[in-house]
Amino acid sequence: MNAEAIRAQFPQLQREIKGHPYSYLDSGATTLKPKAVLDKLNGFYGEDYATIHRGAYQLSEKATQDYEDVRAKVVGLIGASRAEEIIFTGGATESLNLVANTFGETHVFKGDVILVSAMEHHSNIVPWQILAEKKQAKVVKIPMDDRGVLDMEAYGRLLDQLPVKMVCVNHVSNALGTVNPVELMVSQAKEAGAVTVVDGAQSVSHLPVDVLALGCDFFVFSGHKLYGPTGVGVLFGRYALLEKMPPWQGGGDMIESVSFEKTTFACPPARFEAGTPAIAEVIGMGAAIDWILEIGLEQVCSMEKELLEYALLKLSDIPGLKLIGTAPDRAGLLSFVLDVAHAHDIATIVDGEGVAVRAGHHCAQPVMDQMGVPATARASLGVYNTREDIDRLSAALFTVRDIFS
Ligand code: PMP
Repeated sequence: MNAEAIRAQFPQLQREIKGHPYSYLDSGATTLKPKAVLDKLNGFYGEDYATIHRGAYQLSEKATQDYEDVRAKVVGLIGASRAEEIIFTGGATESLNLVANTFGETHVFKGDVILVSAMEHHSNIVPWQILAEKKQAKVVKIPMDDRGVLDMEAYGRLLDQLPVKMVCVNHVSNALGTVNPVELMVSQAKEAGAVTVVDGAQSVSHLPVDVLALGCDFFVFSGHKLYGPTGVGVLFGRYALLEKMPPWQGGGDMIESVSFEKTTFACPPARFEAGTPAIAEVIGMGAAIDWILEIGLEQVCSMEKELLEYALLKLSDIPGLKLIGTAPDRAGLLSFVLDVAHAHDIATIVDGEGVAVRAGHHCAQPVMDQMGVPATARASLGVYNTREDIDRLSAALFTVRDIFS
């Protein structure tokens, strides 16, 4: 399937913005939804809607089956060993907070160190800071250079010299586009006896992921960046760890039995899914997984890589444009600043031409601080983008230059 055929499956890309065709270059924030996902949501809410895990009636049984089937689809997407290792959450942020509040709560103690890479999204920094504060542990940064490449020597030294309990790193940086050497980092962490948390929010829909090959203990992502609905995400955890973790939220569905004398908890994954879950969203995410796997992530990856090369070439023609993040190993995400205009002005003006890019600190303020910029404009690719989108971005950036020069 080529990008044009893929594009045709996204109703939102058929609309115009301010009289222009829509060039959506903000998939790093969230992706648009293909018709297969919209139809699945519509079908579920319109015809098949029922709650799960309770009703003995036909549609409740079907909804339960459809919901539980998505665990197997996630296993297929990320290569976990079994469906019980897949926990549905509200998104990557909730998944990370779940790990901090369960594994962290029972395994991190006074004096322990949590290594967090310098290029993390706030959602992979703040939960560890809150935990560290509570437990009198310490969050220590894994430094990076000014290209946005992690300093692996420093990482090795930190592992050698400090009592490291956990290592938290993203697979792909949402602010810089860097693809981190996660497999190597995980194996070094393991040697040092540390547990690893990989934030796959920016990788899972852009490149093939195999959590067993990565070797990580936990892996998280969000459905809405994977062409699926908002309000749903995944925590993968090695079963041997999940089994020992206490629940986080209490409520219906997560118990084995309840009495005022003693309550016992269900096994994972139910132990971590209290209350009525986001049934429709989980099922919608299942449709998104089927959809992306039909194209194939090898194919997605090579299409986006080719387009990234083209975008890098086109942006290099724009006078005064500076890329923020120039790691050699990178995904389809370009952060940049222009000498003549602030990032927010760039985003506003290119929007006038129908081009959607994001401006700001991208929830990665420490990255902006190190790079010495308050904000960047960011163009991030999805599977529906074409060279035409990049040409239109480039033309719009020349307009920005004309206005501000
Ligand atoms: N990690 C990374 C790398 C991200 O890009 C994002 C979203 N921008 C998140 C975590 C958080 O995802 P969510 O807001 O969907 O929970």
